[in-house]
Amino acid sequence: MGQYVAPIRDMHFVLHELLKVEEQLKELPAHAETDADIINAVLEEGAKFTSEVLFPLNHSGDREGCHHDAEAKTVTTPKGFKEAYKQYVEGGWAALACDPEFGGQGLPVVLNNSFYEMLNSSNQAWTMYPGLSHGAYECLKEHGTDEQKRLYLPKLVSGEWTGTMCLTEPHCGTDLGLLRTKAIPNEDGSWTITGNKIFISAGEHDMSENILHLVLARVPDAPEGSKGISLFLVPKFLPNQDGTVGERNPIFCGAIEEKMGIHGNSTCQMNLDGAKGWIIGQPNKGLNAMFVFMNAARLGVGMQSLGLTEVAYQNALVYAKDRLQMRSLSGVKAPDKPADPIIVHPDVRRMLLTAKAFAEGARALTSYVALQIDRELNHPDEDVRKECADEVALLTPIVKAFITDNGWIATSEAMQVYGGHGYIAEWGMEQFVRDARINMIYEGTNTVQSLDLLGRKILMDNGSKLRKFGEKIRAFVEEHGTDEAMSEFVTPLGDLGEKVTKLTMEIGMKAFQNQDEVGAAAVPYLRVAGHLVFSYFFAQMAKIALEKKDSGDRFYEAKLQTARFYFARLYPETAMLIRQARSGAANLMALDVDLF
Ligand SMILES: Cc1cc2nc3c(=O)[nH]c(=O)nc-3n(C[C@H](O)[C@H](O)[C@H](O)COP(=O)(O)OP(=O)(O)OC[C@H]3O[C@@H](n4cnc5c(N)ncnc54)[C@H](O)[C@@H]3O)c2cc1C
Repeated sequence: MGQYVAPIRDMHFVLHELLKVEEQLKELPAHAETDADIINAVLEEGAKFTSEVLFPLNHSGDREGCHHDAEAKTVTTPKGFKEAYKQYVEGGWAALACDPEFGGQGLPVVLNNSFYEMLNSSNQAWTMYPGLSHGAYECLKEHGTDEQKRLYLPKLVSGEWTGTMCLTEPHCGTDLGLLRTKAIPNEDGSWTITGNKIFISAGEHDMSENILHLVLARVPDAPEGSKGISLFLVPKFLPNQDGTVGERNPIFCGAIEEKMGIHGNSTCQMNLDGAKGWIIGQPNKGLNAMFVFMNAARLGVGMQSLGLTEVAYQNALVYAKDRLQMRSLSGVKAPDKPADPIIVHPDVRRMLLTAKAFAEGARALTSYVALQIDRELNHPDEDVRKECADEVALLTPIVKAFITDNGWIATSEAMQVYGGHGYIAEWGMEQFVRDARINMIYEGTNTVQSLDLLGRKILMDNGSKLRKFGEKIRAFVEEHGTDEAMSEFVTPLGDLGEKVTKLTMEIGMKAFQNQDEVGAAAVPYLRVAGHLVFSYFFAQMAKIALEKKDSGDRFYEAKLQTARFYFARLYPETAMLIRQARSGAANLMALDVDLF
């Protein structure tokens, strides 16, 4: 059932040539020892684990799905998932980028990021179990008490226990201010929590000894809306002081949701029937604490779509070289065969190159963001830490929404390469499309990401974060603007930078009159911003490829052609998007609701 080969060569290119991670990590005391040999060795091992252990379970996991036993109140994951998780834990993979104080290996986020791409290419549904645990780890590490950290973090780090995020309720998704789950304080400092959550990924399963649910709820007399939300830690089994599991806590799976994709992941309705929990952080400040988890998860969802884009591309490429249909328009290419392989056809190449360019752009962007997180967490200079934090905040909604929208396009194009066979389950392509679709919805829909980018991260910030990132782009354009070989990349990059500046100011001015202008422009605006960022990385990658194009390594030739394709065929979408964003709110809002 298909294949997955980790794109190690391109990962090396991004990490070592584009980002020069070894040099960058030397500036960070916590990672100064992480050299290229360590990075490459981890990538090699990660590639083996993901392609040999996880990928073979992807299709079978999708077909089988998870099983809910209502009487026993248990969920069983698809055949092989539990054993693969055991191997993952024994291999120390859960601990890769965790703090050594809690048993972690202390390796950089940028390396974990590449590993997560491989995990997601191999099996997104499986990867969500450990992926959510990592978010829970980050949230508890930042907002937990010392006692909570002592008791829970080593278990999350080792992977013995997993985590979930329990936000959504039947009447409350995007608008968390509507949530109703209640928490009543107990005399011993714990809380009793009652309510119903839906759509909880990895909410119940058989892969780990215990599950730590991070639950949003309201305390008595909490203010209305999002200012009255608190965050609680609600373990499936109450832990004993020595870290063993004790009594079963009444937080049970009521049903598994029937859904379009990621069937191997249990999406659960969770009922809290007076479950015991402990508050994380301060009462009514739960959203603030949960944002640590949500930001990690947003980047994680971008990685899910990068993973799917890559694996869909790889399989479509193999198929396109093998499948014989029709002859090339420009003359027979395979005279010894009854027809030419479909890769000779220009439009098949367009589809393949679209997926390839989206994967390579996303790999560069997400690796860059991951490295900025390492710098934000570990750089000795406070100003640098702040600068990196600002950039990560700006780029997070772009990673989430731009990459997942692209993932949907790329998996669909890769399916199209197969013709009818792409639609047939046996080949595995339709699973990638189905799995990719959820990534645009959960963790804040892509509309919500666009509002976050344009409203909160740009306009409410007076454009300051965007300006700082823009300065980097301007410096690059200035440095290479006179290099003739670079002009095909630098000219459109500089041009788009100027257009984004103008567009931002225009929307900002209109928003003074009418806030709906922000909502009306946000989605095309985010895609334009995504292309600006991709253009910046493709221009940088093209520069390296031009320098190395006579090295004899044909990888650079491919990189250069991919950058050319990107600017010629994908970037031009920005002209249409800018027109859409500028068209204003009236064309959306004028129609009376009754006339729809
Ligand atoms: C498979 C799956 C797994 C999930 N996993 C989890 C999980 O682990 N934990 C968890 O807590 N939740 C989880 N969710 C829930 C998910 O995060 C929500 O579905 C998502 O946040 C959207 O909420 P909603 O479905 O209620 O849609 P709604 O909030 O009802 O939104 C409906 C539509 O309205 C739009 N909309 C809403 N408000 C605005 C606005 N202000 N401006 C413009 N448009 C707006 C939305 O973009 C969307 O298109 C999961 C969902 C699924 C399907």
